[in-house]
Amino acid sequence: MDILFTNATVLPMTADGSQPRTFTGAVGVAGNRIVLVAAAGNADSAPNAGTNPSADCARCTEPAAGSTGSTADSDAAAVVAAFRAAHPAAREIDCTGKLLMPGLVNTHCHAAMTLQRSYADDIALMEWLNDYIWPFEAHQTPDDVALGMTLGVVEMLLGGVTSFVDMYYFQDRCVETVRRLGIRAMLGCNYFDTNVDEVFPQMERALALAAGCDRIRIAAAPHSGYTCSPENLVRGKEFCRRHGLHFMTHIAETLDESRIIRERYGLTPVEHLDALGVLDKRTIGAHCIHVSESDIRTLAERGVAVSHNPQSNMKISSGVAPVERMRAAGVLVTLGTDGTCSNNDLDLIEEMRTAAFLQKSATGDPVALPAYEALRLATVNGAKALGYAPGELGVVSEGALADLVVIDLQKPHLQPVHDAVSNLVYCGKASDVETVVVDGQIVVDGRRVRNVDLPALYRDVAQTVARIKAAVK
Ligand SMILES: [Zn+2]
Repeated sequence: MDILFTNATVLPMTADGSQPRTFTGAVGVAGNRIVLVAAAGNADSAPNAGTNPSADCARCTEPAAGSTGSTADSDAAAVVAAFRAAHPAAREIDCTGKLLMPGLVNTHCHAAMTLQRSYADDIALMEWLNDYIWPFEAHQTPDDVALGMTLGVVEMLLGGVTSFVDMYYFQDRCVETVRRLGIRAMLGCNYFDTNVDEVFPQMERALALAAGCDRIRIAAAPHSGYTCSPENLVRGKEFCRRHGLHFMTHIAETLDESRIIRERYGLTPVEHLDALGVLDKRTIGAHCIHVSESDIRTLAERGVAVSHNPQSNMKISSGVAPVERMRAAGVLVTLGTDGTCSNNDLDLIEEMRTAAFLQKSATGDPVALPAYEALRLATVNGAKALGYAPGELGVVSEGALADLVVIDLQKPHLQPVHDAVSNLVYCGKASDVETVVVDGQIVVDGRRVRNVDLPALYRDVAQTVARIKAAVK
């Protein structure tokens, strides 16, 4: 279905420096691409006016990948009319009083752990793992994991997340779930030394099942440098290099991890992984809290994407990641929620707010991580971490993949609108998301999720966790 959004406050995430960040206008989608970005309305708008003035039918049907910009005010009505003429069946969505922005990218989570949301909180780490999490997981079947994944993906879609990076097991079983729900995903096959031989065949199967679906990518996801041997870390990276995949792992999340790796190898977690040759542009490192200045330089030089998970880090007292120092050093910092055991939700809008507030609090500098930069972590930077070229994902621009979110600004906590970016980052909630498009398909329509019967999902989840908890006891 082709789509035309009109009268929207568009937040394209393409503005530089002092350029206006939003403008009033229209956005057209044909197939899975954005083919029209037309600025109209007030003078406060048109950040890229005049950069792409023509809008003929050929461009609507065959967008030039990578093209950017919007259309001058004076041409807006004409190009919108041309889009309507070229796409007479397009669904038109009036976005008066609404914000249209790129879909959010959650670069680290364990979506299936929604089954364990609030199951065991406010408990010390080792007791939490030994007495609650691991026994629960021991009773989960692949179908249970797919059910938890469904709940997690539904929660993310309803919160405006259009792409996510996952790290868990039975990802082969989850490929079909992700395909059905329509979200964009990188599914990391999580392994430890203890289960590596079971997970590699799962990863092979997941790869085969995801073949031909551009929305779904598979990755190797060794848990960390202290739970995986050097041989198993390298084995995962070699698998990724052979198949052109990403590699992800937790890095420097806790002081205990740093201590264990120093005792074993005499190195920091970053130095250890770098010595093994697993850090590069196709590596996503979750957390990166306890990193030295030298570690930060290494992360920047290797092009590693860091997934910052502030709420998880706060809840389990891991520490504060030096996001501002990493950004200043040129590290690609992105945003994630982590799992729902340590957050306990998958609300990336709230996570942006927490990231900004935490940096301001930790650095003593109210200028640290401004709202627009927090939003950049969750859009443009996340898209880059997933391996998309600049302008291809994470922006509202002609030629980009059509992953879009409509936010309803007609809410008491979002009025008045002095600054739409500040309102979104500092006041927004997942529940403000109204419509979500992934790859040109409407997957959330007026807060209804496509292909999901929510009451049935909640009932299935309740029955499943009751069965697992009975088995654990
Ligand atoms: Zn994690």
